[in-house]
Parts: sequence; structure tokens; C-alpha cells
Amino acid sequence: MTPDVIVVGAGPGGAATAILLSEHGLGVLVLDRARFPRSKICGEYLSPEAVRVLDRLGALKTLDAVATPLLGMRITAPDGTTVAGRYRPLGPYRPYREHALGVSRTTLDAALAERLRALPLEFREETRVTDLILDGERVVGVETVDRDHRARTVRAPLVIGADGRTSVVAQRLGCRRPHRLRRMALVTYVSGLSGCGDSGEVFVDPPDYGILNPIEPDRANLSLVVPLEHAAPFSDRLEAFFAARVAQLPHLARRLAGARRAAPVQAMGPLAYRVTPPRRPGVLLVGDAAGFYDPFTGEGIFSALHGAELAAETVVRALRSGDTSARALAEYERARRTAFGGKARLTRALQLVIRHRRLANLTARVLVRRPALLDLLLGIIGDFVPPRALLGVLRAR
Ligand SMILES: Cc1cc2nc3c(=O)[nH]c(=O)nc-3n(C[C@H](O)[C@H](O)[C@H](O)COP(=O)(O)OP(=O)(O)OC[C@H]3O[C@@H](n4cnc5c(N)ncnc54)[C@H](O)[C@@H]3O)c2cc1C
Repeated sequence: MTPDVIVVGAGPGGAATAILLSEHGLGVLVLDRARFPRSKICGEYLSPEAVRVLDRLGALKTLDAVATPLLGMRITAPDGTTVAGRYRPLGPYRPYREHALGVSRTTLDAALAERLRALPLEFREETRVTDLILDGERVVGVETVDRDHRARTVRAPLVIGADGRTSVVAQRLGCRRPHRLRRMALVTYVSGLSGCGDSGEVFVDPPDYGILNPIEPDRANLSLVVPLEHAAPFSDRLEAFFAARVAQLPHLARRLAGARRAAPVQAMGPLAYRVTPPRRPGVLLVGDAAGFYDPFTGEGIFSALHGAELAAETVVRALRSGDTSARALAEYERARRTAFGGKARLTRALQLVIRHRRLANLTARVLVRRPALLDLLLGIIGDFVPPRALLGVLRAR
């Protein structure tokens, strides 16, 4: 049977899109090259608003049993100034819950895959999409190869590319471009960390930053982000590079005293890339397939989940009206710009701050004096306060 929609990728973006479309009664085929559970390099922080969407998707109960609630975030500037903020109601803005979550991607993505298996849709794992089928400008289906190397063609009125940072869909449409911000992430786990509890911890020390994110009672994700050009010569000696680099961030190094590395270092870079919207009939991009900037403000999973909510609204309307033209689908791009534009501008401004030692120190000292401003910033980072609220506060000064 021909599905209404093919969703390529079953990470947070693809799984959420498929679940929401299936709940609308549409025929959905989900394809992923992996078999779940599978791991994924990530800081493993879920913002309070990501938690809201996961509840809507029916995955939160499973995660609540294993995830670590994170009540706030502690940020250490290069000169050692430390500020600590909490996720709390701020005027009209309330977090879904007054915490974020730390949870391993293996667990998160497996919980979503489990939801896919429980729904009346078709979920094919170990099925790689190798190409798109085009009819002129229109995307009409995909070519796949399964684990037994059998090639197949599947057609549908709509294809959703949710296939992450190496998206075949975005590449085949010529939408993906390099970004001039060239950074690499080195990710591992530590255990035996003293006082590892209910907050994420960020250590800013230009040109690097490190993030400690507790995900289990005695296990924290440790992600270090460095300029790509510094790490590239050490691609065959990542462990040594990582240890040397951590030693250069004195506040992080001190924090890690007594802790043990609990996993090998994994690397990913360059992190940032641009994607222009496809603007073609029959296709949309969701999540990392639609672009990625930097993990500092930890909104990637929320953007994938909320992008799925926005895509589902457009797709349901388009399929019900029988109009999957580029014009009908452009509504999704407008919704994305409204939803994510303000935060994207703020994350770029924060990048400027964390790249300059004096500016980072100065900002930390201002935030020490204005804890409410820090909580507001955390609310924006946690995706439940709109970035325009910050402009209101700054103008009121
Ligand atoms: C170092 C690092 C740290 C990060 N830390 C955080 C964080 O702490 N919090 C946060 O919110 N975000 C974080 N992010 C971002 C976050 O990981 C992504 O934004 C998120 O995973 C996007 O979800 P997605 O579903 O779009 O893509 P993915 O999670 O990458 O899922 C894509 C899926 O597509 C499948 N796929 C790929 N190609 C094909 C193909 N050809 N055919 C079939 N299937 C295919 C893959 O197997 C995968 O399952 C981080 C990113 C990086 C790089």
C-alpha cells in the first residue's frame, strides 16, 4: 500500500513527526538505517520544553523512570566567577516542569522507537535511504537498501527528511552548505564526580567550553567543544588530546579531580552547517536535517521535536486539501522562522560572549548581580521563555 508520508530517520525529529501524523490517521512509513536502541553523540540535555513535547508523544513516562531531573545550570566564567540559575516560573512564562532532564540518547531514542512500534504505522529499521525519486521538481519517493542489500523504491505524496546531520534528503536537493563556525565536540562520560546532582554545569574558557550533564546517579556526560583546527591534527590521538585540553581549562580540571573517565572519547565535527529550505513540492526537512549551529544552548532535540509539531500541522493540512505544492508547504518554513528565529539570534550573540574571555567574565559578573536576569536567560535557553522577553528587560533598564 502506498503510504501518505515517508519519514526518513527515526531520531527525535523523525519519530515525533511520525507519531503525530499517525495520530491524525495518516498512513506513515518510517525508515531508519539503524536498529534501535542505538547510540548518538550528544550532550544528553533535554530542555523543559522538550520534556513537554515528549509528554505529548507518550514517551515521558518511560523516561521519568530513568532520567535525571536538572533543576538549573551553573556556569563558570574563565576567571572563575560562577553563576547558578534555576528553571522557574517567570511572570507569564512557566516551565512545563521546573526542571530539564539529563538522559542518555540510547534511552531517549529507544523510548521514541518503542512508541513507533506501538502505533499503527510501518517502521522499517536497518533500511537506508540512498536517494530521492524526483518527478521534475517534485519529490515523489525514495530509494532504499535494506540490511540484506535488497534495493527498493517507495513512493508517497510527501517525503520528510528527518535523517540528521548527514541528511541524504537535504544533500540530494542541494540544500546543505558548510558554515564558517568550525568547531569539534569531544564527548565522553565520567563517574565518581563529587557533588554531581541536580544541575548542568558549563565551563567557559575561550576558545573552548565544557559541559557536565548528569544523566544517571553516578554518570555524567562530559562534552568539550574546541576549534576544529586545534583538534584535527590529533584525530588519531583523541584521548591524549582530550586529556591535555581538559587540563588547560583549570576550573573544569579542578571540578573533575577524583572523577574517573567511564568511556572512550568520541568526536564529531565540524558541528555547524547551513541548510536552505528545499522549496519544492512533496518534501520537508525536520530537525538536524534542516540545519545545526552549536550545542552550547542545548536546543537541538527541542528544535527537532517542536519542528515535528510544526511540520505535522502543515502536512495534515496539505494532505487533507490534496495540495502538497511548494507554496502550501512554505507555511512550515514561516512557522519555523517564527518559532526558532529569536533563539537563533540569541545563540549567535551568546557565541560572541563565549568566544571572548573579557566579555565572558564581564557577562558573568553582571549576572552575579542580577540573578533574575540569569533565570530569564535560563528560561530562554530552556525554551519556555520567548527571547523577546529579554529585550523587554534590557529596554526597561
Ligand atoms: C556534540 C553534540 C552535543 C549535543 N548536545 C545536545 C544536547 O545536550 N541537547 C540537545 O537538545 N541537543 C544536543 N545536540 C543536538 C542534537 O543531538 C540534535 O539536534 C538531535 O539529535 C536532532 O535530532 P534529529 O532527529 O533531527 O537527528 P538524529 O538524532 O541525528 O536522527 C537522525 C536519524 O536518521 C537516521 N538516518 C540518517 N541517515 C539515514 C539514511 N540515509 N537513511 C535512513 N535513516 C537515516 C539515523 O540513523 C538517525 O536515527 C548536540 C549535538 C552535538 C553534535
